[in-house]
Amino acid sequence: MNKPLELPAGHDDRVPYQKPQPWGMVPDMVVPDAVTDDERLWAPLGPGMWSRPLQLNVSGGFYVHLLKVKRSGLLQRHRHSGAVHAYVIRGRWHYLEHDWVAEQGSYIFEPPGETHTLVVPDDCTDMITLFTVNGALIYVDPQGNATGYDDVFARIERYRAHFESVGLGADYVKRFMR
Ligand code: FE
Repeated sequence: MNKPLELPAGHDDRVPYQKPQPWGMVPDMVVPDAVTDDERLWAPLGPGMWSRPLQLNVSGGFYVHLLKVKRSGLLQRHRHSGAVHAYVIRGRWHYLEHDWVAEQGSYIFEPPGETHTLVVPDDCTDMITLFTVNGALIYVDPQGNATGYDDVFARIERYRAHFESVGLGADYVKRFMR
């Protein structure tokens, strides 16, 4: 076993960075209690599906959100224009196009260009996954014909309407924007 690093007596390297941060940098962000029980913070996406925004990045063209699903079955089929990173916090899901299952604790990378069909298995009625979505989702039929889309701007409109409807005000969305 490695010995812990020993610093000389009286030495303490816990010194904050002494210089200014770069001009034009956007503010940092902390969202406490990301997997919150506060239902006002979860915008409905469809039957038994909600989304909690964490970051809505309009200059990078991506969004980070928690997807919560309280039912099993088919959720949606979509094509990605950008890369997606996912981390399963609770439950499990899979794509009809793949034989792997995203289980609790799994990290998943979805490459740009892929089209897939998201399904929550019958034995799972409580799923939460963290998604970082770059670019757009194009919702498609099984032949790939577009039926709709989602991107950070479409999400912002959806969250604004939701926050307004639950009494937090449309501008509540601004705290998630960078
Ligand atoms: Fe996807």
